Formats: sequence, C-alpha cells, structure tokens
Amino acid sequence: MKYRFVLFLGISLLLFGCKKTSDQNGGAKAAFENDSLSFEAGVKLSEDEIAFDKKLARLRKQIVEKAGEQSLDLNNKSFEEIKPFAESGKLYEILKRMPKGGLLHSHSGGLTDIKWVIETAKKYEECYVFLQSDGKDYIFGQLAFFKNGTAPQGFVSLRRKILEEPPFENKLYELLTLKRKTLCAQVNYWIEFEKRFRRIGLLLSYRPFFTAYYKKAMYDLTEDNIQHLEIRFFFGNLYDFQHGEYGAETAITDLEEILKEVQKTKQFSLKIIYTSFKFLDNKQIEEQLEKAFQLKKKFPEIISGFDLVADEASGNSISYFQESWSALSALSKKYGAEMPLFLHAGESNSVFNKNIEDVSLLNNRRVGHGLNLIYFPQAMNRIKQQNELVEVSPISNQTLGYVSDMRNHPARVLLRSGVQCSVNSDDPGVFGYEGLSYDFWMIVVYWELDLKALKKLVFNSLNYSSLNENEKQPALDYLEKEWLLFIEQANQKLD
Ligand SMILES: [Zn+2]
Repeated sequence: MKYRFVLFLGISLLLFGCKKTSDQNGGAKAAFENDSLSFEAGVKLSEDEIAFDKKLARLRKQIVEKAGEQSLDLNNKSFEEIKPFAESGKLYEILKRMPKGGLLHSHSGGLTDIKWVIETAKKYEECYVFLQSDGKDYIFGQLAFFKNGTAPQGFVSLRRKILEEPPFENKLYELLTLKRKTLCAQVNYWIEFEKRFRRIGLLLSYRPFFTAYYKKAMYDLTEDNIQHLEIRFFFGNLYDFQHGEYGAETAITDLEEILKEVQKTKQFSLKIIYTSFKFLDNKQIEEQLEKAFQLKKKFPEIISGFDLVADEASGNSISYFQESWSALSALSKKYGAEMPLFLHAGESNSVFNKNIEDVSLLNNRRVGHGLNLIYFPQAMNRIKQQNELVEVSPISNQTLGYVSDMRNHPARVLLRSGVQCSVNSDDPGVFGYEGLSYDFWMIVVYWELDLKALKKLVFNSLNYSSLNENEKQPALDYLEKEWLLFIEQANQKLD
C-alpha cells in the first residue's frame, strides 16, 4: 500500500513537474515570439545601457509611487494637469538631457513658446490686436502689423492694450494656446485649434517677426537636444513696410541664413516639407504641387517633400486627390526632381476614415499620426513592408481629443506589431510647451517603454528623416557620440 502511494506520488510529481516545465517553455517561447515582432527587436544594449535601463525602470516605478502618495491619479489626468508633476521629477531632467535626434513632425505656426511670441510682438510699435467679436476678416485676439494710422477698425495697439490692462497678456496667452484642461472638458477642438493659427498667422508673415520667430525656435530645439528639424511649412508671401511683399524664395533664404547662424555653435539641420490644405480641390493642389516642384528645383537641399493638412473629418480625403497624385510623375520628369509625400493620414478614431488605407497605396515616405492604422491590418502590413515610418505625436493626440487615457494610445499597438515610429510634438507652442522632452516623459511613464525602445525611437528620427545620404551618416555619427555621453552622464547622476 505504502509502496503504491509512493509510486503514485512519484508519477504525479513527475507529470506535474513536466507539465510545469513545458508550460514555462511554451510561455517563454510565446514571449520571445511576441517580443521579436516588436519594433525595437534587434536593438542590443551595452553594459552601460543595461545599467541605465534598470535605473530608468526604477525611476518610472518611483514616479507611479510618488503620484500615488500625492493622490494624483495619473491615468485620469490630461497632460496639462500632469505637467507640473512631470517637471518636478528626475525623469524629466534626464529626458531633457537625452539626445533626441530629429523632430520630424512640426508645423510652422506651432514651433515656439507663445509667451515669447507675445513678449516679442508687443515690442513692435506696429503690432495690433483685434478686440471685436469674430468676423469675416478678423477674429477676436488676432494679431497683425500695420503702419501707423492704417489699422482697420477693431484693432488696437497691442503694447498699449497690455499697458492699460496687464491681465490681457494672460488672456491673450489663453487665446493663442490650446490645452485640454481636464480629460472631460468639452472643447470643439479643431475649431479652436484652427483659430490659434489664424490669430498668429499674420505675425508670421511679417518678415522681421518671421526671422526672430524661427531663430528662437531653432535655438530652443537645440536646447532640448534636438539636432534636426523638419517643418510642414505653408508658403505665404512675407512682407515688411519698407519693401512690401517678398516671394516664397525669401522665406527659404531667410531660413537658410538663420540655419547657418545656428550651425556656427550647434549641430543642427533643417528640411522643409511644402504643405497645403485638404480643403482645397484638385486644381488648386496641382498648382500647389507645381509651386513645390519649382521651389524644390531651386532649393533641392532644403525642400524635401509635400503634405496636406486639415481636420480629416472635414477636409477632402486622400483618395479625392488621386488626380493630383497621378500628376506627380509627369511633374517629376518636368522638373527633374522627386517630390516624396509625407502625408498626414489616420488622425482619426473612425474606421470610416480610409485615408490611412489610401496612403499605404501611394508612394508615401512617412505617415503623420496614423492613429486609426490599427483598424486596418492590411494597411499596417503594407506600411511595415514598405518600411514607412509613422510620426506619432502623443501630447497632440491627447490635447485634440483622440486619446484620453494615454495608456490606450494606439501607437502602442503599432510599436508592438513592428511598425516603425518616431516621437513628435506637432505644435508644442500651441499646446503650451516646447521641445520633445514632455512627449518622451509621457511615453516612458504611460507606455512602459524601456531603453531599447527609447533608443530605437530616437535613432528612427534620423534614419527615417529626409536628410540625404551624404548628410545622414555624419548626423547619425554625431547622435551616436552624444548618446554614449548621455548614457555615461545619466548613469553617474542616478543611483
Ligand atoms: Zn501635424
């Protein structure tokens, strides 16, 4: 009896043990298979990086604990609510120091600190603000420059207005920025978003302000350890009161001058993506494409491609412009230049918005946003096979209401499925911040990213940039050097 019991026990243990081992092996195999699909598979960390990775994980854990101690529910707060908490911790400090490579997705009207915009605008005697309610020509809070005595009715001197009523400066700041104050605040995002650009649009075409603005933007980005910038750029004519209007070329030559100045002390490069609007028709877009080609022929080093923007729920679809896309090859022949597409697509939560599907069938190099790509698995595969990059803008997506709880951002699915992405800030000035460090903070905390993932995102921003082959390698070499230095210093700084 005793012998039988021992035998039974022995066999049970053996079977149970075997099952456990095979489950463990199966689990490990599944985990390996899943991990090997992920976008950062293949990244190998050095010993120093492994040490920093562990510290980063600890830092992240401490953030969650600290938020708990302060009864701050991280998952139910908007970026705007989290920002002071983020700024107070070590992770933000470290991420600010982190070399970030390139900022691939930005727009001309949202690059720079709005406090600086107001501060600088009010220094100009010829700067005015519109104080009547929104009308056909101007809207409340719109800024513009006028020669003395020529300001249309409704405009008052900005400087005088702030002198007479100092709190107006803060009010204007609110009118020029768009924040999601709480996750449940009701805002008509795109209407409000577009108003922000309209309010500063006329400032940016005044040449003296234009040059000051871009100088500020480029230097600020270098302070955030960004070495390369690509701007979706609207080409309107610049003007000043001495000369009148300047053609589109002046904007480029001015930017080149500023760039040269920045490059005297900093590693920095710039590419311009000619940008137009989704609410135009095919005839207008073909005219825009023609202009883009003319500029590209004249400035091949700086004009890198073409894009269309606007709220995808109201603008024309990518397929609507098929006629324009078909004109591309003839234009390429005519001008002897390529015009790669960098289209915004899938900035939507709807399966009825097929832009992402259409864009995957075009000769498109990078996708702006791609939020609903996860609902189009075949398009996702195509984008992977075509080795296109998705430019993800986490804070922008939350601010404009596409994502609330950042843990559920669709880019997490893209990354785990092996779609290459980069991190971007879209219009940080409008969203009330500068640079890229906050976006990285959000994704380290909410997406639980490790150093392998961070490193891949950073290097993607140069590997998928529109730097040409001669420019790319030196840029990557510089980034590699900065990265090594960063890891060394970060390891010294953290326990
Ligand atoms: Zn954008």
